[in-house]
Amino acid sequence: MSKIVRAMTRDGSAVAEVVISTDIVNEGVRIHSTSATASAALGRVLTAASLMGSRMKDKGDSLTLTFRGDGPAGMIMAVSDYFGNVKGYIENPLADAPPKSNGKLDVSGIVGGGYMSVVRDIGIGEPVTGICNIVSGEIAEDIASYYAESEQTPTVIILGVLVSPDLSVKAAGGVFVQLLPNFDEGITDILEKNAPRLANISDLIARGLDETALLDIVLDGIEYDVFDEIDVGYVCDCSRERTERAVRSLGKDEIRDIFKEQDTIEVCCRFCDKKYYFTEKDFSTGENGNG
Ligand code: ZN
Repeated sequence: MSKIVRAMTRDGSAVAEVVISTDIVNEGVRIHSTSATASAALGRVLTAASLMGSRMKDKGDSLTLTFRGDGPAGMIMAVSDYFGNVKGYIENPLADAPPKSNGKLDVSGIVGGGYMSVVRDIGIGEPVTGICNIVSGEIAEDIASYYAESEQTPTVIILGVLVSPDLSVKAAGGVFVQLLPNFDEGITDILEKNAPRLANISDLIARGLDETALLDIVLDGIEYDVFDEIDVGYVCDCSRERTERAVRSLGKDEIRDIFKEQDTIEVCCRFCDKKYYFTEKDFSTGENGNG
């Protein structure tokens, strides 16, 4: 189980959150059978969505983070609930690229250029969507740029995924700091000085640093208090009922045509790979409301 640890600076200038998401990313990698570079890309998006989602206010709120780049990975998305539980999807899990000259996985090489979006669904009215250009394709820089441009919120976000030679994820995690209205100007200098020390965050996690040790680095020189710890995981909330509704939305004629060709409809959840099977009976009885 992973956990998000949240802290607030004592002067009320910033909220900082840390997650060690190794378990979450490994589950995503297991479900999607990703290449090394795709594991890093999906893992960063999952980690970011978990941190961003846990800043939502109410139970039932959800956040969807989507990258639509023109690189070989195709669309990468992750959906988080308000606790920070997350599920994800990558269009081309086998997309891969040679490592960069510094030995790091070339995430931007498979993401490419295009745009990213953040959709917040708070259950009332239309979901709120923010859209921004992908500035680097390395995920963290793109999200920081999104917050600066779309939400005018200065944000430090650091994400890292360390993939072992056997393609399992050795360590993954993220740090997310957002400045609050009327923040003290001095804090931005300190954060800018501290953030580069977390550039190899996944190596630090692999070496055994825990959530608090990571907070100590990003908030070095700033007094802070931890105020919350939340267990989070890779969680898919798909169900037979919801899947059946999705099939039903194809319309009666379309469904009838499908069953002319085959006896069962198989629907596979894109987030957890669970398979649901429906026969014509499922739809003929339900229509009268007495099935
Ligand atoms: Zn599912």
